[in-house]
Amino acid sequence: MGNMKPILGIIGGGQLGSMLCHAAKKLDIYTIILTDDPDAPAQNFCNDFICTNYSNKSEVEKFAHSCNFITFEFENIPFEILQEISNIKQVRPDPKINKIVQNRFSEKNFINSLGISTTEFAFIKTKNDIEKNKELLPGILKTCLLGYDGKGQSVINTMEDIKKELPLSGDFILEKFVNLKQEISVIITRFQNGECSIYEPIENIHKEQILRSSTIPANISKELFNQAHNIAKIISEKLQYIGTMCVEYFIDYNNKLYVNEIAPRVHNSGHLTINAFNVSQFENHIRAVCNLDNIPLQKKSNAQMINIIGADIANYRKKKLKNEEFFFDYMKKEIKSKRKMGHITTLISKQ
Ligand code: AMP
Repeated sequence: MGNMKPILGIIGGGQLGSMLCHAAKKLDIYTIILTDDPDAPAQNFCNDFICTNYSNKSEVEKFAHSCNFITFEFENIPFEILQEISNIKQVRPDPKINKIVQNRFSEKNFINSLGISTTEFAFIKTKNDIEKNKELLPGILKTCLLGYDGKGQSVINTMEDIKKELPLSGDFILEKFVNLKQEISVIITRFQNGECSIYEPIENIHKEQILRSSTIPANISKELFNQAHNIAKIISEKLQYIGTMCVEYFIDYNNKLYVNEIAPRVHNSGHLTINAFNVSQFENHIRAVCNLDNIPLQKKSNAQMINIIGADIANYRKKKLKNEEFFFDYMKKEIKSKRKMGHITTLISKQ
């Protein structure tokens, strides 16, 4: 390749990959994106772009041999592929972690095994299983695998809702519906020497199960702040996690904290760290994966991030930005109605 920079391979080419590439540039690290999507936006930000079917063994192996370090930007890569790559070059975070959190059932069992609360849930394969777990209604039926942004989810209020057949097919969990007061997330980066760098909790608002806004500071008590931090530390420690991960939480009207899910990667709610902190979640991820120094975090400003979804992107592309506004266009080829097309972060003074 004719360059002496460290080479970081990133599997997946969406906006998270783009922002990782951007952060890598600042650290003088060369990036190669591996994706199966010819339109992947990260091709605009990486140094090298490999587009191939993940089942193309020789291309995938070539990619693994070309890199010094390898990570991924979305968690739904087939485990076997990650395992195959990690036989050639270590993948961080460890693909075994992916296997646990990729499946909602094993993810929740893992969290509960640490003595940490999740919503109540049951494994569901048939309509009869729902009948047996009626006490979880009203609830949300979620596919165990491959669901995100509300995809693969269906609200079930009463048994009447599933008279004939289950609305979806495969393995599911049925989750009891929590009356949500707030939702927060904690972004944490764990380094190879076991040190952690942890951002303050971020308050998130979802609409139709898609993240709309993320704000710091979260409007929560010191107690919940500390609880959320402690849980994120315990989880990352237990997983021996390397890199940036996100723990998403629900808070109910009794101020009880539940872990909703773990994202073994940089996360949408952490985009505001790019402008509000000295080191972003993306830079921290790369620092951890490539074994660079852990720089103490400093908050520069409070902030709010708004996701720009679907056709709304056209308005932002024309918008005249104020000094405290930072607009990110993911440069996606096609506008789709529920697609995250960009985001805008507004810095808010600390007073
Ligand atoms: P998920 O894909 O499981 O993270 O769900 C996306 C969003 O749907 C969450 O951030 C919540 O706003 C909402 N949601 C999911 N599960 C529940 C639940 N058990 N109770 C209440 N709201 C939920």
